[in-house]
Amino acid sequence: MMQNFETDEGRWLAVRARDRAADGRFIVAVRTTGVYCRPHCPSRMPLRANVRFYDDAAQAERDGFRACKRCAPAGSPRHPAAEAVARACRRIESAPESPRLAELAAAAGLSPFHFHRVFKKLTGVTPKQYAAAHRARRLRTNLRTAGRITDAVYDAGFATASRAYEAAPETLGMTAGAYRAGAPGERIAFTTAPSSLGLVGVAATERGVCAIEFVASADAFERALRERFPRAEMRTGDPALAQTVTMVVRRIERPDATLDLPLDVRGTAFQLRVWEALRRIPPGATASYSEVAAAIGAPHAVRAVGSACGANRIALAIPCHRVRREDGGEGGYRWGIERKRALARGERDAKTEAGDSERLPRPPGAQHLPTSRRSNASANARRSASTLRGPTVPKR
Ligand SMILES: [Zn+2]
Repeated sequence: MMQNFETDEGRWLAVRARDRAADGRFIVAVRTTGVYCRPHCPSRMPLRANVRFYDDAAQAERDGFRACKRCAPAGSPRHPAAEAVARACRRIESAPESPRLAELAAAAGLSPFHFHRVFKKLTGVTPKQYAAAHRARRLRTNLRTAGRITDAVYDAGFATASRAYEAAPETLGMTAGAYRAGAPGERIAFTTAPSSLGLVGVAATERGVCAIEFVASADAFERALRERFPRAEMRTGDPALAQTVTMVVRRIERPDATLDLPLDVRGTAFQLRVWEALRRIPPGATASYSEVAAAIGAPHAVRAVGSACGANRIALAIPCHRVRREDGGEGGYRWGIERKRALARGERDAKTEAGDSERLPRPPGAQHLPTSRRSNASANARRSASTLRGPTVPKR
């Protein structure tokens, strides 16, 4: 039978069968471990829900996955310019203003024409489109928390405020002013459910889950949501959200259960980077504030990392309970140290029962925080960290 390696379904069948014919045709990445493999890798079979497929290793690396040490998928065919393009992406992300094409091409050691073509081939967009998308995302997140709109605009790398306003309807779906105030008519569903760690509140916008919190009562949860989203329309009794809260409670009671929810995360660009890094700490593992700071390429922003962890409103899905103080102390937790302790203990026990994952070799003392920069650009990021003008630390 002719195997179909083009669809996720066909790819998953090949992974289940450890089909060697699939070698070189695609890459399988496992979200929970942050590692990507060849399809026939002999390591432990991942859960379907945790798997993402990529056409090649470079794409998996761009999304922050690391190559498996066992099946060495990075040796599979890979575009020679992949690393240069990944570096260019990081550079665009960290520059206060979009670097010029000629500058990016020179850094990659390619002619502008060749660089433009290869960038588009590997990322699907031009460098200019990539920069515009990144700026729009930063603007969207900065607006929520910045004290003044112009601050947010400049933080996002727009040269003038008027240019940002011109871009706003397209990138935000509304004007910058309206977005800052919270969209009028935005609808937020919320619900609560009991768990062994107390009452859990879950809220979601139409885009995804915006809060998972341990709360004193349903009323208290609603009050807190109204404070955060003053103009939103609150409603209860959403059947989809009832399913979501069931998943969250199951995850609390069974630490090996997966929790893969669409999130509507709102914070500054810096907070988003911290929260993304937290999501890469595997269950049962911990990282210190300074490890997280190093992972996002801001090794000196340890205190800001601590604040960002404390500002997280989406418990579990953004696992701030996996962060520790430098001295190994537990550090704080918005929802109480007892809960942090219980969550960490549950994950550790679940991991011990399952046996250590073969896909995550972790020598003692090694940095155990897989990061989006590690494989391609970690050395590069470290070298240039002091010269970057970012990261954007939230303004007070
Ligand atoms: Zn492997």
